Amino acid sequence: MAQETIFSKIIRREIPAEVLYQDELVTAFRDIHPRAPTHILIVPNVLIPTANDVEAEHEAALGRLFTVARKLAAEAGIAQNGYRLIVNCNEHGGQEVFHLHMHLVGGKALGPMLAR
Ligand code: 5GP
Repeated sequence: MAQETIFSKIIRREIPAEVLYQDELVTAFRDIHPRAPTHILIVPNVLIPTANDVEAEHEAALGRLFTVARKLAAEAGIAQNGYRLIVNCNEHGGQEVFHLHMHLVGGKALGPMLAR
């Protein structure tokens, strides 16, 4: 059994977070340490620890991450200028919370994707 993280508690509204969107598949809330003017985390409600744990049964929730990202980017007014969607995996990917999530980051020019 995968170990629950703080994100499960946010999804169940047991601890506070600025939740921007929630449905039966995903929850979106503001990152507690924003790295850009807009920094939102979009999370499947089901616990998938990392991208390595993705299964076919998760496709609906993972597809929903993108449609919700699109909606929230439009609402944040960053769709036209653009933004970045990031999923980190494990140590080399810099993953800190082991409940798969998509970062929606924007509101300024973000520069190169990776340090050169
Ligand atoms: P990762 O490095 O795992 O891709 O990103 C985890 C993100 O979760 C980080 O950007 C971090 O700031 C955010 N985070 C960690 N704990 C909390 C929390 O309790 N509440 C919220 N809103 N964000 C959190």
